[in-house]
Amino acid sequence: MWSVENIGIRPVQLDFTSAGLATHDTKEVWFDGVRFANAIDLTNWDTEEFQPQVCEGCGCEHCEPGSWLTVRRFGDHCVFVPAFQRMQENEWAMNEYRPPQYLDDRGAPLLSRPLYEKLWQLDVGLPTFDGIQLLTSREVALLCQLEAPFGLLGRFPDKPRVVADLVLAASDGDAGALCKTVDHLLTRHLAADEATHFLGAATEIPVLYLDTMPFGEWRPVTVDGPSNALVLEPGLAFGLAEWAT
Ligand SMILES: [Zn+2]
Repeated sequence: MWSVENIGIRPVQLDFTSAGLATHDTKEVWFDGVRFANAIDLTNWDTEEFQPQVCEGCGCEHCEPGSWLTVRRFGDHCVFVPAFQRMQENEWAMNEYRPPQYLDDRGAPLLSRPLYEKLWQLDVGLPTFDGIQLLTSREVALLCQLEAPFGLLGRFPDKPRVVADLVLAASDGDAGALCKTVDHLLTRHLAADEATHFLGAATEIPVLYLDTMPFGEWRPVTVDGPSNALVLEPGLAFGLAEWAT
């Protein structure tokens, strides 16, 4: 995930006259220099999935395909994730509801609670922090796939599975065994459509060295304590709900 540090809010005027409409005064929202929303009051934030970048010609959601997200929370964080469930419905939905390009480049935007509340205070229909749905284990597995460098876990909607041929060695332990552990964890997480068990920041994360050009590294799993857990950037560990008991 991409740890957003700054939220910028900028007044802007959109020109809808070519669509036979008036101009519209609104606000853009920027995350660390990336435009997250282009007309904050025109996105339907209170629906399960929403399009933060609306059509610049008429201001309507769905006029143009792509750039859809949904929001989830865990611990004191929230994260804007692809609308995985909606995308999986059919081929049209896979294209229509695809996430913004910056998720591939930087990861899913991760906000601390105070930063999210700065957005919520704009009063445009975003849920309160506590009203956000909890991140599921299934979504953790799919974020792991999204974050994996060089398509190392394949591409959604294919089931995430390690392309073990690309993993050369590990900084600690056996690379092949770690790949099997990652596959095993992914399979179990993918089947668990229930709230993830957030374990906090991981301390022991072995590096997997990749046979790629350029030379790559990957840190998908922690070996803290007695059990392994999936790790998402920036080094946060996630377990299954059953581990909480
Ligand atoms: Zn339009």
